[in-house]
Amino acid sequence: MPDVVRKVIALSILIIGAGFLWVGTNSYNDAEAAKNEMQGTIASARERAAANDPRLKGGYSYERGGWVYVHLEGDAEAVGFQHGYLLAPEIEDAFPAVSTNMMHSTQRDWPFFRQVAREILWPKLDPEYQQELEGIAEGLHARTGSELDVWDIVALNSFEEVPDYYVPWLNKQEKAKNAANLKSPGNCIAFVATGSWTKDGQIVIAHNNWTNYMNGERWRIIFDIHPTHGYSILMDGFPGVIASDDDFGINSDGLMVTETTITQFEGWDPNGKPEFLRARKALQYAGSIDEYTRLMLDGNNGGYANDWLLGDRKTGEIAQLELGLKAYKLWRTKDGVFAGSNFARDPKVLKLDTPEFQPTDMGSSPNARRVRWEQLLNENKGKIDVDLAQQMLGDHVDSFEKKEQANERVLCGHLDNSARGVAQWAWGPYYPGGAVQGKATDSSMTKDMRLVARMGHPCGEDFHAKEFLAAHPDYAWQDLYLRDMKAGPWTTFRAGEKPVRVN
Ligand SMILES: [Zn+2]
Repeated sequence: MPDVVRKVIALSILIIGAGFLWVGTNSYNDAEAAKNEMQGTIASARERAAANDPRLKGGYSYERGGWVYVHLEGDAEAVGFQHGYLLAPEIEDAFPAVSTNMMHSTQRDWPFFRQVAREILWPKLDPEYQQELEGIAEGLHARTGSELDVWDIVALNSFEEVPDYYVPWLNKQEKAKNAANLKSPGNCIAFVATGSWTKDGQIVIAHNNWTNYMNGERWRIIFDIHPTHGYSILMDGFPGVIASDDDFGINSDGLMVTETTITQFEGWDPNGKPEFLRARKALQYAGSIDEYTRLMLDGNNGGYANDWLLGDRKTGEIAQLELGLKAYKLWRTKDGVFAGSNFARDPKVLKLDTPEFQPTDMGSSPNARRVRWEQLLNENKGKIDVDLAQQMLGDHVDSFEKKEQANERVLCGHLDNSARGVAQWAWGPYYPGGAVQGKATDSSMTKDMRLVARMGHPCGEDFHAKEFLAAHPDYAWQDLYLRDMKAGPWTTFRAGEKPVRVN
């Protein structure tokens, strides 16, 4: 065969081949488009069918001031179904961020957390909350076709207690070599004041959530829950989680609740009840400081060990429940103030539950903030109200260096500015974490089930993820999930509030 003929044949084959390829690609695209269209049709049909589900009756949600307000009502299954359905986009968005963080810090895979959820946590849950958690998974699936099941949802609910309390305990039991450096977290600052400390003698309570920005930027739900049993609840919270979890909430019997986490807490009781269950149950069923204390102690597993700050608007009494595992202490008064910034102070709790904590290291974040709380609250004795509380939550005074700077030692924490980090919580230099949102309320607001809340740093500063990651490549593993955290306005929320329609 002459060369030229061979070349013509070869070229023809190439052209024909390319032609087939072109036709092939095109029909592939057509098929893909048809498939997408069909899936879209199925999804909207599913959503339409789900929207008629009787369990959704009464539930609704809307966005305001950077928050998602969600109203849930009915029996446990309905409350769960509404939660899963109405917050489906937020749950689908938060789940990968939280689970990535849990796996990264513990070096355990996701099936491990599902197994803990199923075998250790689930059997300890009251049927009411099992139904609510199943409802969340069902509502989520009905809206989006999500493949997350109830074990994923239970594992998500445990994100503050399994990685930092159960896993270190388990590593010790298993004498695991090269186990991850896990420390219990040091989340939050808060105070509760009453009597001669406040402007009009009533209770004022306020709280900043401290956590990593990846989770914190998603901690933007205002839950307005009207369950068939127990009291109504107004609280901030996290998508997919049944407790407030950071925690800040009020109930319709006048109980006001918040907490800060105990730094360097050690211990876990495998026979205890999950903290997320006890915290939710206590806010739903306690009408007094005594009842709250009893419900938190019932089956205490040591998970997410906190100093709980409580108020009862009916009596004007406030309390601090320092809830260790081996020891606990309850202080209460009708004229005083309790503040928290992640330090234990009862000698027994310090000795038995936080053996490593150094109460005299004044440069450490918990102690520096404790000093700042004492200064700020004493300076403002008799003047404290919700407006002043909002200002306090944005405070940037470093009591150790005696100057204003946004770092790990101030009430409105900005760890991303600090080369020191917080070793006690295993937060490294420039850790992207700190104060992620704030809330406050008082007795009369609680009487009409109202609170004020601000998303983002309570001082009003924004966090920019792109610039941060460019400057701190150590945190590149968060790249997929770390987002800008913009500060919203202080916004008032009330139970039963409908969205304001603008026509
Ligand atoms: Zn700030």
